[in-house]
Amino acid sequence: MTGKNVKTRFAPSPTGYLHLGNLRTALFNALLARHCGGTFLLRIEDTDAERSRPEYGAALLEDLRWLGLDWQEGPEVGGPCAPYAQSARTAVYAQYYQQLEARGLAYPCFCSPEELALSRKLQRAAGQPPRYAGTCAHLSAAEQQARRAAGLAPSLRFRVPAGRTITFTDLIRGPQRFASDDIGDFVIRRADGAPQFFFANAVDDALMAVSHVLRGEDHLTNTTRQLLLLEALDLPAPAYGHLALIVAAGGGPLSKREGDLSLRELRTIGYRPEALLNYLARLGHSYPGDAWRDPAQLAADFALERLGRAPAHYDPAQLLHWQAEAVQRATPDALSAWLEPALREQVPAALQADFIATVRPNIRFPADAAFWAERLFAAELCPSEDSRVVIAAAGPAFFHAALEAYAAHGAAYQPLVETLKQRTGAKGKALFMPLRAALTGEIHGPELARVLTLLPADSICRRLRAAC
Ligand code: GLU
Repeated sequence: MTGKNVKTRFAPSPTGYLHLGNLRTALFNALLARHCGGTFLLRIEDTDAERSRPEYGAALLEDLRWLGLDWQEGPEVGGPCAPYAQSARTAVYAQYYQQLEARGLAYPCFCSPEELALSRKLQRAAGQPPRYAGTCAHLSAAEQQARRAAGLAPSLRFRVPAGRTITFTDLIRGPQRFASDDIGDFVIRRADGAPQFFFANAVDDALMAVSHVLRGEDHLTNTTRQLLLLEALDLPAPAYGHLALIVAAGGGPLSKREGDLSLRELRTIGYRPEALLNYLARLGHSYPGDAWRDPAQLAADFALERLGRAPAHYDPAQLLHWQAEAVQRATPDALSAWLEPALREQVPAALQADFIATVRPNIRFPADAAFWAERLFAAELCPSEDSRVVIAAAGPAFFHAALEAYAAHGAAYQPLVETLKQRTGAKGKALFMPLRAALTGEIHGPELARVLTLLPADSICRRLRAAC
């Protein structure tokens, strides 16, 4: 599928920070648009005045940009369908409410929440699915007037046509059908005047010429209502695709411990945006082969046919895998900007670039770099338990010989270990491990040859002497 007419969107509500779930939705829509050379639009769905907060809106834009999901239409960038925040579109919705009312397709409903709750309870008790009973569906103008005069503020309900079968083809789940008789008349404008989410959402998709909507399968029931609304308003419907939800490894809902972290939290831990992109793009979508992809390749190879119907299992090991890949692939500049705060205190500025190149294969997060910074640059090295055992086993003579070899060859690794080998008879593990343990305090870690050139001579001598 290609074409400039493809327009996808991400339509978050600013009621919290972005999590893996809605980030994946944003990503898939962005990838689909990019794949087709189309437009990715961002719309802020802030009609719920109680729960929406401007700071979440601002965080959302910042987080999407951090992840590299730039939008071509939306807040800050503008576009032909502005405004892109629903709170600024009240007049637009008013027009469509009027249209529906004028044609008898929507009516004011004066039922109180208590009355509605009671009605639902009675329906359930009678073994029927709870559905609006139609109490206000046929009030006369005089009856409506009387209720208004009594101070009741009505909501507005959409009159669902009877006896219709609605069908659509879901981009992921294939043909879908539902009966209008299963849906009660539903509220499209709340008594406080706020538009119901799926009303504003559907109207805006149409007015903003959105062609494709990928969203969570929890919205499937909204889709049925939205298709009825769009039909009644004579507005075009986008093609909908409902993504299987992300679940924890065991199949249950995501919890804080398992994947339900906000992007902010992941970013604070030190996840790289490219790692998250590579991970999320494979969560419910498969690529041929499991090679790393840069953002352009992620888009080039994205395909609706590769979206899965089965729930996507969150797998922390996979996320770590992509994080390690991202660190190996980051440019030196990107790495040093990312690590600088963690290294500032420990690593002399002149050695930072060298240090980063040395530990790069051994780190996944800034905390790992901070660990190695401490191991390599602490004034006094306190070797790990394992290292102490290795150092003791090698014995003082080994380290005396190491000091002499270092005095003779400096940081020239090959001649140094060759000399040490000849002098001590030690080889393989018995040669390298004590050296590593004495110099870094750990028995595994960064390449020893690099450590030797990185560490200042006085520090190498001090550490070898301490092991004697
Ligand atoms: N504002 C809705 C949400 O955040 C948008 C749903 C949709 O993508 O249509 O769930």
